[in-house]
Amino acid sequence: MNKIDTYRHKGMRQKLVDQIRGKGIEDERILKAIGKIPRHFFMDEAFVEKAYEDKAFPIGKGQTISQPYTVAFQTHLLRVGYGDKILEIGTGSGYQACVLAEMGANVYTIERHRSLSASAKKLLVHLGYKVRCIYGDGFLGYPPFAPYDKILITAAAPEIPKALLEQLKVGGCMVVPKDENGKQRMLRITKTNVNDYTTEPFDYFQFVPMLKGKE
Ligand code: SAH
Repeated sequence: MNKIDTYRHKGMRQKLVDQIRGKGIEDERILKAIGKIPRHFFMDEAFVEKAYEDKAFPIGKGQTISQPYTVAFQTHLLRVGYGDKILEIGTGSGYQACVLAEMGANVYTIERHRSLSASAKKLLVHLGYKVRCIYGDGFLGYPPFAPYDKILITAAAPEIPKALLEQLKVGGCMVVPKDENGKQRMLRITKTNVNDYTTEPFDYFQFVPMLKGKE
């Protein structure tokens, strides 16, 4: 893998961090992770200049790498703790999973596109992160390693997947952009007891749809 991270990239990355801080993200652990991870590695080499703009960007298969601010916001809502076991739905480029791993979480991530899952896995191994990349349908979660402290969905969910609520630990939370007529309302759902949940609504965001099955 021929990827290089130069001082110029680091400079662009620092500006991105300052922009995200300016948008209200104060958690230094999140900002540090974004400042460290070479986001341009997660995109096609032709788009290095775009990698440090605070924007989503196409990664093939009609999918996108999330906007850095969105990554930071979802990570903030997830209240990531060192050693948390986190299940992510929608590996995509692997960037969000990398941010969580850099913060010390134990990350499992599911992707329904075989080729995206394979390339994210290759890149994360290359960067030295121990993220488990699973090729599968996130609606089903991943029972072998359940329950999870936290669950993060990075695609627009038409409904809250029941299997995921079941695979969440009591006391844990799930962050999910829930589709409401084409825009997505960010929700944090906390499991307060085996069958009890509280839901906190946040702002609207834009995500690609969460789809059933694998490709
Ligand atoms: N977290 C990603 C952004 C991903 S975009 C990143 O940091 O780059 C959303 C991803 O969710 C897409 O790659 C899409 O293929 C995937 N996806 C959609 N529905 C899914 C499902 N049911 N199971 C797993 N992945 C899914």
